[in-house]
Amino acid sequence: MSEEERDELAQTERMALDSATAQWNSNDASGAAAGRELELLKLEALEASPIAFLITTRDGTIVWANPAIEAMTGYAPSELAGQTPRLFKSGQHSESFYRELWETILAGRKWQGEMTNRRKDGSLYQEELSITPVRGPHGEFSHFIAAIKDVSARWKAEEALRQAHNELNRAVAEASDRQAESEKLTELVDMIQCCQSREKAFQIVAEVLESIFPACAGALYLINTSHDEAEAMAHWGPGGEINKIFRPDDCWALRRGKVHVAADAKSATRCDHAPHASDSGHICIPLVAHGETLGLLYFEFPADSPGRPAQPWKRLAERAAVVGERLSLALANLQLREELRQQSVRDVLTGLFNRRYMEETLDRELSRAARYNESVAVAICDLDRFKDFNDIFGHDAGDLLLREVAGVMTANVRQSDVVCRLGGEEFVVILPGANLDIAWTRLETIRKQVQSISLNHRNRTLDRVTISSGLAAFPKDGASSEDLLHAADKALYRAKREGRNRVAMPFTSL
Ligand code: GH3
Ligand code: MG
Ligand code: MG
Repeated sequence: MSEEERDELAQTERMALDSATAQWNSNDASGAAAGRELELLKLEALEASPIAFLITTRDGTIVWANPAIEAMTGYAPSELAGQTPRLFKSGQHSESFYRELWETILAGRKWQGEMTNRRKDGSLYQEELSITPVRGPHGEFSHFIAAIKDVSARWKAEEALRQAHNELNRAVAEASDRQAESEKLTELVDMIQCCQSREKAFQIVAEVLESIFPACAGALYLINTSHDEAEAMAHWGPGGEINKIFRPDDCWALRRGKVHVAADAKSATRCDHAPHASDSGHICIPLVAHGETLGLLYFEFPADSPGRPAQPWKRLAERAAVVGERLSLALANLQLREELRQQSVRDVLTGLFNRRYMEETLDRELSRAARYNESVAVAICDLDRFKDFNDIFGHDAGDLLLREVAGVMTANVRQSDVVCRLGGEEFVVILPGANLDIAWTRLETIRKQVQSISLNHRNRTLDRVTISSGLAAFPKDGASSEDLLHAADKALYRAKREGRNRVAMPFTSL
């Protein structure tokens, strides 16, 4: 209540109080005559006052109200007589609010405050209220006088201001969230650029996107080179089952090349790849860079809740689209880098690793093995009399055979083992953690399978070939890559000398 309003209320209330007291005193014959005219004037002033007044008995029954009450509440004073102020109850205040009010006035103290009440037409208004207990002729509290001022206009203005303030706070919070999100994305893009492997990059994508959209399950799909499969490289978030692999045609976003939103679980435009068991909508964002569709970002909305406003999903979709745009370029770069790296470490003819990669890997594996006290087996393998094979069947047939042998070798070692083509018809197999016995068994399997390779080339059945291998193991046969390869080479030489089509170990290991 403003200072001015309080003064105004206090003043008019004093008049009402005087007048009410005068009514009791009018029983007293001595005071009656002198003050009668003044009392009438006071009553007239009350009738004309813009402030509403109510006089109730001690139990709350309304006995008098001035006309201002009608403008404020819609009830004429005559309608109010005999009623109680409960008529105005808005339901906006707690029981304890009213209890505190009654306790104050029944204790003979004045109560002042703001209250939301209900008009006759059902609408709400805000009033400033002051209730004063009045003593009767025998000194007991017999009546209450309420002076009421409608402050709805001020209250509405304050409410509008409060709302504007809240809105501003929300906008500032939103802007700061977006800023934090944008920083996270920049960091994500930066980290993707510096990732040593694609797997690590996908793991980071999952972590960051989960932190940006904590309520949504999601997945990152990449499309394969033949463009007939989208495969999940990473997925995250609460519970949600996701489809690991699907055909790009099963996705509206991939078909149309733009963001697709299925607002809820019952939407007719849910993508076929979205889990059928889901009870929420989803959003698909195609990842496009340099005009090429690389994959898809998929988010599942949190489970549907009835009466949910549509707007937040729109905002979520917009934010997700921004994420998709930034991620596309980073992934395109990652893909390009990976291709270049593959080109620099792979042998073109067989797809096996090349000599450079073999040297790097062997060095790395040896220092790891030294640290953990483990062994590493190395084999050098060489096709027997391959020159003759080439001379008889030609270089193309030789190439075909080399690819076939490469396939046999990779199929018979573990995924963590490394098969390289040193050049010509020579190969190296690095078997981290393997001892000579294990390596020998594997090389024997390879030897037998190579021997049984049967190929046709230009309508000719090619001769079968054999392979010889020399084995060595770290640390027994050499502590450095050089020594180890030298030991394996010596063993290979012995295998050749002893008749070929065999696996030989160094004498030191026998
Ligand atoms: P061995 O090792 O049993 O002593 O006899 P070899 O005939 O295999 O010996 P050598 O190492 O002298 O011959 C290697 C032959 O491998 C030479 C060449 O004809 C063939 N060669 C090398 N690189 C390639 C290649 O890239 N493609 C094809 N088709 N042949 C290759
Ligand atoms: Mg050779
Ligand atoms: Mg050879």
